[in-house]
Amino acid sequence: MGILFPIDRVRSEFPILHQQIYKRPLVYFDNAASTQKPVQVIDAIRKYYEVDNCNIHRGVHYLSVKATEAYEEARKEIREFINARNTHEIIFTKGTTESLNLVAASFGKRYISEGDEVITTIMEHHSNFVPWQQVCLEKGARLRIVGIDEKGALNPEELEGMINERTRLITLTHVSNVLGTINPVEEIIRMAHEHNVPVLIDGAQGISHLPVDVQAMDCDFYCFSGHKMYGPMGIGVLYGKEKYLEEMPPYQMGGEMIRDVYTDHTTFNDLPFKFEAGTPNVEGVAGLRAAVYYLKDLGMNAIAAYEKQLLDYATAMLAEIRGVKFFGTAASKASLISFLIGNVHPYDTGMIIDKMGIAVRTGHHCAMPLMDSLHIPGTVRASFSFYNTIEEIDLLATAIRKAKEILE
Ligand code: PLP
Repeated sequence: MGILFPIDRVRSEFPILHQQIYKRPLVYFDNAASTQKPVQVIDAIRKYYEVDNCNIHRGVHYLSVKATEAYEEARKEIREFINARNTHEIIFTKGTTESLNLVAASFGKRYISEGDEVITTIMEHHSNFVPWQQVCLEKGARLRIVGIDEKGALNPEELEGMINERTRLITLTHVSNVLGTINPVEEIIRMAHEHNVPVLIDGAQGISHLPVDVQAMDCDFYCFSGHKMYGPMGIGVLYGKEKYLEEMPPYQMGGEMIRDVYTDHTTFNDLPFKFEAGTPNVEGVAGLRAAVYYLKDLGMNAIAAYEKQLLDYATAMLAEIRGVKFFGTAASKASLISFLIGNVHPYDTGMIIDKMGIAVRTGHHCAMPLMDSLHIPGTVRASFSFYNTIEEIDLLATAIRKAKEILE
């Protein structure tokens, strides 16, 4: 490898990677679905239960205050990690899906009416597609969908051509979970803002691969999940600009999101608590904080550079296999490869590769509109993390050759 990356140390910190599957070393290439967790994250969760566990915000006793402080410190860490202007612009959710549903429901209620339009893209994960489709159906609004070219890239001019005085929001993914395409979000946001249209970025696949600076990007919302960035499941973040979050109504009602409750009406809490009803995932926040430390320590630029080498190597190796067709070859791409072998069903390929100890994902990857537009039932997806190696990619190439031999 051309760049220095502490791969041996990194691998030693992920206990799950050191096991045998079907008597072979596990090769984990399903990172776009969920990443594995370093010992630092696992330890943070154990420590939370061993010494800190308590419900937060509502107690005067020692443990409750300690747990609350740790939870709020974590919010500051996340703010810093994505460079949000204000800590109260960081809302904890259970993941990207909940963050997106929160915005669709709340922003939809406040800003979307009959005849309005929302623009999205054909490459969205269902969680950034269905909530908007449903809000539009409910409100009598129109969901407009930008297409992709043969490489799997968006055309920003096509998107700009769709903006008009009825456009209320543009919502798109930072990185496609199927194609790997890194969308030109800065350019799209600049363009949208010239028309006074806010932009939501689904960062589920962006946050673990790229440095994210929400102020530099100038997005109005950014959503991500802990479990895709080496943190725990069931925790995620919604970043939103204060001006929108202040105006948007609460998404769920219950404890913590209220200021005063009367028999005939209720006043709501300040940000971020207005959007955090009920007992939150305090354990998840402790784990997410440890994941953020971990990523900061490695450095997002170093991660991106190492993963680019993995992607380039894997692309070259798989391109040598006759009959392998790639889906997503955009110039700007994150470290995943979607492919098919000839006309073989992705599920069959995935099954054989699995028996060789290699975990890849097969299917529509929660992007049925994209699959329809490509006229395929699904793909095989190998998604790489910074704990993967060149040797593992060699094993994948061998496994694909074997699968091809068997299936063709
Ligand atoms: N958006 C994208 C681009 C994704 O890849 C995913 C998950 O694969 C999601 C949203 C949903 O994330 P979660 O299931 O963590 O809520």
